[in-house]
Amino acid sequence: MLRATDLTKAYGEVQALNGADLSVAPGQVVSLLGRNGAGKTTMLSIIAGLLRPDAGSVELGGIDALAKPEAAAKLLGIAPQDTGIYTVLTVRQNLEFFGELSGMDRATRSARAVEVADRLGLGPLLDRKGGQLSGGETRRLHTACALVHAPRLLMLDEPTVGADVTTRLQIIEAVRDLAADGAAVVYTTHYLPEVVSLEADLVIIDNGQVLATGTQPELIEQHRISGVQFEAAGELPDSLTSGQGLEVTRQGPDRWQVLGDIDMAQLLEYFGDGTARLRSVESLQPDLETVFLAVTGNRIDDESLDEEAAATDIEEGARA
Ligand code: ATP
Repeated sequence: MLRATDLTKAYGEVQALNGADLSVAPGQVVSLLGRNGAGKTTMLSIIAGLLRPDAGSVELGGIDALAKPEAAAKLLGIAPQDTGIYTVLTVRQNLEFFGELSGMDRATRSARAVEVADRLGLGPLLDRKGGQLSGGETRRLHTACALVHAPRLLMLDEPTVGADVTTRLQIIEAVRDLAADGAAVVYTTHYLPEVVSLEADLVIIDNGQVLATGTQPELIEQHRISGVQFEAAGELPDSLTSGQGLEVTRQGPDRWQVLGDIDMAQLLEYFGDGTARLRSVESLQPDLETVFLAVTGNRIDDESLDEEAAATDIEEGARA
């Protein structure tokens, strides 16, 4: 359904995308994961025809979307990060308006508005003005507007930011339904449990490049890790930091991860008389978070650690 190839985009000095690919088949949900600034929104904006790439191609349902953006636009629904609804129109009018934009006739868009509103828990609010909705309701309407015309490609950019548990579940359910009806879905989020609920396939992007793609079980298997993570006050035992085959990484002011052939009991042995300095220990379980950290690099740069430590010092100083 979607085949975006070799997308490249610079904003002045910033190389936001550097030869990134994204393919999504009908019925497939792909979760686009990446740290802040990785290039996700830039990629979605290019695919949606909102931004021109410096290089690359976008094929949508067999259409060259860069050459024929209007034809391609009919196939897609996008809910960007910032909510955009008409505050003076009612929920129903918002939905019907977005249906009309994509060429639906009056009867179809009116029936579809009710169906989508019900699906996202907006049924009782159909005649309420957009400006009189709560934050979560606005978020639901924003998402509903993107799927009212049953797009063949749906792209949602962090659709559940600020959403409560119910809204979150309704959005996830609506996405699953649409995919079950054959739509291709691209879903970006920083909240990994949603990716698990969606059983989405993963595309992990960093610095404008795709670093990994695959199903969740595939990537968890590929990035299987063993080790421990712990919190400890003070210096680490020398024997641990120089331990054969162990990779010790600082993850916060007092937070550490040790990758390698080590379990919790062995960690205690390394600390010996100093075990009282250990505040918590757990063994590493391979999951999406460990995959993400393994792919994007699990080392937090020293600058951000220093900032975190400084913030802690300030808080402690303020309490003293
Ligand atoms: P986030 O998770 O924070 O939403 P993202 O993965 O969506 O991040 P993008 O918004 O695509 O990231 O940004 C990619 C890079 O391009 C970042 O370094 C960002 O600062 C930069 N960037 C984005 N838009 C612009 C712009 N209009 N002008 C200059 N730089 C930009």
